[in-house]
Amino acid sequence: KRMKVGVIFGGKSGEHEVSLQSAKSVMDALDPLQYTIVPIGITRDGRWQVGKGAIKALETAKVAESKGTTQSPKNYINSTVGGLTPASTTRSVDMLPPALVNEIDVAIPVLHGTYGEDGSIQGLLELVGVPYVGAGILASAVGLDKIVMKQMFAAVGIPQVRYVAFTRSQWRTNPEELLDLVERQLAYPCFVKPANLGSSVGISKVKSREQLAEAIALAAQYDRKMIVEQGLDVREIEVAVLGNDRPMVSVAGEIIPSNEFYDYEAKYVGGHSKLIIPAELSDEQREKVEHYAVAAFQAIDCSGLARVDFFIERATGRVLVNEINTMPGFTRYSMYPKLWEASGMSYGKLLDHLIQLALERHAERE
Ligand code: ADP
Ligand code: MG
Ligand code: MG
Repeated sequence: KRMKVGVIFGGKSGEHEVSLQSAKSVMDALDPLQYTIVPIGITRDGRWQVGKGAIKALETAKVAESKGTTQSPKNYINSTVGGLTPASTTRSVDMLPPALVNEIDVAIPVLHGTYGEDGSIQGLLELVGVPYVGAGILASAVGLDKIVMKQMFAAVGIPQVRYVAFTRSQWRTNPEELLDLVERQLAYPCFVKPANLGSSVGISKVKSREQLAEAIALAAQYDRKMIVEQGLDVREIEVAVLGNDRPMVSVAGEIIPSNEFYDYEAKYVGGHSKLIIPAELSDEQREKVEHYAVAAFQAIDCSGLARVDFFIERATGRVLVNEINTMPGFTRYSMYPKLWEASGMSYGKLLDHLIQLALERHAERE
């Protein structure tokens, strides 16, 4: 009997489009002899569609087109992230399709960002008792929150960039005081980020107090918590982690962004960023990357899969962890599957493996 696999995609997140791309690749690659696919789409405003309607949403999928980059973060977002509204507050009434409960043996939530990679869909799947691919509630929630993630990493001694974290209300109460604080702690350039997002949405690189204020105001539209990091001149190295209690680490890859940093445009729209696999690393760097990748995975109690992203500071060669992504981009051309391919595991086999890990974890909880 073929296993019924619910592929969940779309969602109420700034990364809706990216999810559609990833899900399309996943559905194309699932072995039809082994699996029956049940497509489950979630619209931007949180409505669920199962089967044909869901596929239709996929067909119209395209990454928002760039109208060229500008230096202003506000214009940048408007021009590149089509139709994206910050943190939707819409209530979804018809939120639980019966297919989720009755029809499927395992779910693959191919959702990125809020309401997908943050533990919410994982919580729903736990409640209905459906095994699912990827991190559980805790690791998903911690992994998506850049501030809590950094605190967990710090607790186990993982090296990271310096940062200042604060809330929107702190910012609104006394902006000048906050700007002073950031300027005391960090030097320009800095990176300003909403705490709970991905795909570089809402992120700005700033070089002056004026830009800093503008960038914080932008980030504040996306989240009630924000972070400002020390900007460094870095190489960007990524590894794929796969497993539950005994995670494996892939070969490392390097990103050469096509823009000044690896922003939304460089990631998806232009598509001119280069992936170099395997990355050229010294033995010592390679060992550190492997060690910290597993440490980061375990620090947030992750399971299934994660992509751990590193910075290697050009000036010093220091290896720093930037972040963990519990549902990394999953198209055929994405770093995560490519890293496994280079490590000897095809895209299809990778999916088999992930489904197996989902069933194993589910069995352990019973
Ligand atoms: P996301 O979760 O949206 O991918 P990241 O924290 O990875 O957010 O930041 C996106 C990109 O911005 C990185 O891939 C890198 O190119 C750049 N960047 C972020 N933080 C820094 C930093 N502290 N120093 C240098 N570059 C950074
Ligand atoms: Mg991320
Ligand atoms: Mg990133």
